[in-house]
Amino acid sequence: MVSQEVGGRAFRLAVLPGDGIGPEVIAQAVKVLRAIKEIYGHRFELAYFPIGGVALQETGVPFPEETREGCVHSDAVLLGAVGAPEFDATPPPLKPETGLLELRRSLGAFANLRPAVLHEPLIEASPLRPDVVRGTDLLIVRELTGGLYFGTPRGLERDAAGQEIAINTLRYSRAEIERVARIAFQAAARRRRKVTSVDKANVLETSQLWRRVVTEVAAEFPDVELEHIYVDACAMYLVANPRRFDVILTENMFGDILSDEAAMLTGSIGMLPSASLGGRIGLYEPVHGSAPDIAGKGIANPLATIASVAMMFRYSFELFEEAAAIERAIARALERGYRTADIYRGEGHLVGTEAMGDQIVALLWEEASPA
Ligand code: NAD
Repeated sequence: MVSQEVGGRAFRLAVLPGDGIGPEVIAQAVKVLRAIKEIYGHRFELAYFPIGGVALQETGVPFPEETREGCVHSDAVLLGAVGAPEFDATPPPLKPETGLLELRRSLGAFANLRPAVLHEPLIEASPLRPDVVRGTDLLIVRELTGGLYFGTPRGLERDAAGQEIAINTLRYSRAEIERVARIAFQAAARRRRKVTSVDKANVLETSQLWRRVVTEVAAEFPDVELEHIYVDACAMYLVANPRRFDVILTENMFGDILSDEAAMLTGSIGMLPSASLGGRIGLYEPVHGSAPDIAGKGIANPLATIASVAMMFRYSFELFEEAAAIERAIARALERGYRTADIYRGEGHLVGTEAMGDQIVALLWEEASPA
């Protein structure tokens, strides 16, 4: 373990750079943390741990005990990405991605938050017409540890006639729905105060319970408006009128699909942060993977990881001003034309990973000490 102290109040951070472009984008996020520390006088203790392919190479397992210990004794976990082609053929327990699933399980992270914000300067990067997508700023809260992906019984078997059958079980308890609904309403209370709960209550009993419990939780948040819509209508509205949404709350499988649809509104996967919440410790990571095709080239977009740091300040440390400062710096870097290759459309300044990180730091300082 390499431990570093970055400067007031100490926040302990487990940093897991991981594989591929993970260490490159994490290095930029750490620069931003240092700038926030100096500008606002906080203290961050960073401890680095291996996960994924790097951990497999060093220790033989993708989520070593030392990493688990480091994470559960931190205030928040910042992850780069996991995944390395050389482990593609290895069995699941020895795959880098298994390390990430074990990490999420250790932290009890049952709610996944994915904002989809369209920055005006990137409007041409969206596949949708500018007049449709302009002003999109929504947050998907997806239930992460229940539903069809985890329900039992499950499996592949044969029936009495010898025909192959496959079984998955969609099961939700009242407690599972209540806890993720509260996270969505709390998030909405800090945003534009609207929750759209997405279900299929016209067909599924799980959705009928979901709708009833979400309505009960809503009574705890009288300032937040609640609407219920069916998942098929939601898929349609996301591309027809994304501005109608503030917070979308949904179960695991619907959230899996809708969050990728929403992500595409914003142009590049290199722009998308995420938070996984529920336990005492939040996990913050970019949505993208280890991008082996561009690893080591210094061209990866670090903004998703830097925006994940902003989410960490907002949701784990409740440092709202610091979070907003980072988000303003990202918006301004884009307004000034700075682009990594994934969002470059022939205009502005094409920059690499480090230069984009340096721009965000410079803009944080510029705002902190106006001329
Ligand atoms: P990926 O997200 O790594 O890459 C998809 C495409 O987007 C690639 O062309 C890549 O170059 C590009 N891209 C991704 N992030 C970028 C960034 N920050 N800047 C510029 N371009 C970027 O997905 P993949 O190629 O399907 O998977 C690669 C590896 O990552 C696999 O081993 C996969 O299992 C793993 N993975 C990990 C996570 C995670 O750690 N949370 C998520 C998805 C995939």
